[in-house]
Amino acid sequence: MKIAIIGPGAVGTAIASALDNIDVTLLGREDKMMAFEERDTGERKSIPVKALSSVTTTFDVVFIAVKTHQIDTILPQLKTITHAQSKVILAQNGSGLLPKLEGYDAYQAVVYISGEKQEDKVRHDKDYRIQLKKDTFTEQLKAAISTTELTLELEENIEKAIWFKLIFNLGMNTLTALSRDTARLLKDERMLELCKNLLKEGLQVANAEGITYEDSFVEDVIAAYRIFSDESATSMYYDTMNERVTEVEAIQGYIYRQGQKHQLHIPYIETTYTLLAHQNEVRQR
Ligand code: NAP
Repeated sequence: MKIAIIGPGAVGTAIASALDNIDVTLLGREDKMMAFEERDTGERKSIPVKALSSVTTTFDVVFIAVKTHQIDTILPQLKTITHAQSKVILAQNGSGLLPKLEGYDAYQAVVYISGEKQEDKVRHDKDYRIQLKKDTFTEQLKAAISTTELTLELEENIEKAIWFKLIFNLGMNTLTALSRDTARLLKDERMLELCKNLLKEGLQVANAEGITYEDSFVEDVIAAYRIFSDESATSMYYDTMNERVTEVEAIQGYIYRQGQKHQLHIPYIETTYTLLAHQNEVRQR
């Protein structure tokens, strides 16, 4: 099984590192080396990146690990590096991008790999887990990479896993990006209340989509946030602080549009989504 990963960033480079004892190629904008470091152990390695534009061979499996708003830029080359039986895995946060991959056998993954890229260096913080819909192909892939550090969790109900991550990101990504503060913001009672209201509305949208969770869902998510250290933040926070475009359309925007489809009253999501979308518009002017 020949595997490629497009996007030599935090997630893409970590997947390449985890798969480095099998046939894997990391593809980026240009030929270069990425420096990769494990936060816990300090272990370092260099991972080669090939220019996507120069590759003419095809791969059986292609992970896409560019940011959601960057996907259009890789679509022309994706045709060149795939064949009729290739599988494409969207290793991204958010949802709603599969229609862009019409004609491909494509999967939306839920990514639990955390790290950060700065220029040509990636620091991996924790986890090498990817959730995928369970089927014959994903079982074969799981077997093919069983000797590597990457764990595939095969889900009977991938939509439930996707919505869990969407709502998880809805609370913390929204608030860290808009307040420009880290996880310590939950110590402020008013921010905590706002967070709960966002989560409740996210849950309302998921329910309207036929996805249900335990009654304790909102409290469970808050409890999971509380495990974060005060200084930890989200990718949307870092993108905001660095004046970069955020992934708001694939996360808050996707949830908002599903809510609209069901004619739900979701004022917290509507307001925060509008503010975040406007920030992106200002950055792209
Ligand atoms: P990232 O560090 O910004 O990496 C994206 C990479 O894709 C960058 O190296 C970027 O290059 C490259 N790229 C963009 N357009 C390209 C093109 N046309 N051709 C070749 N390469 C291209 O982003 P990330 O943090 O890995 O995030 C990837 C996805 O995983 C996002 O959806 C994110 O939400 C999700 N995710 C991230 C984490 C995390 O902890 N980082 C955790 C879970 C999920 P440039 O830098 O030159 O643009």
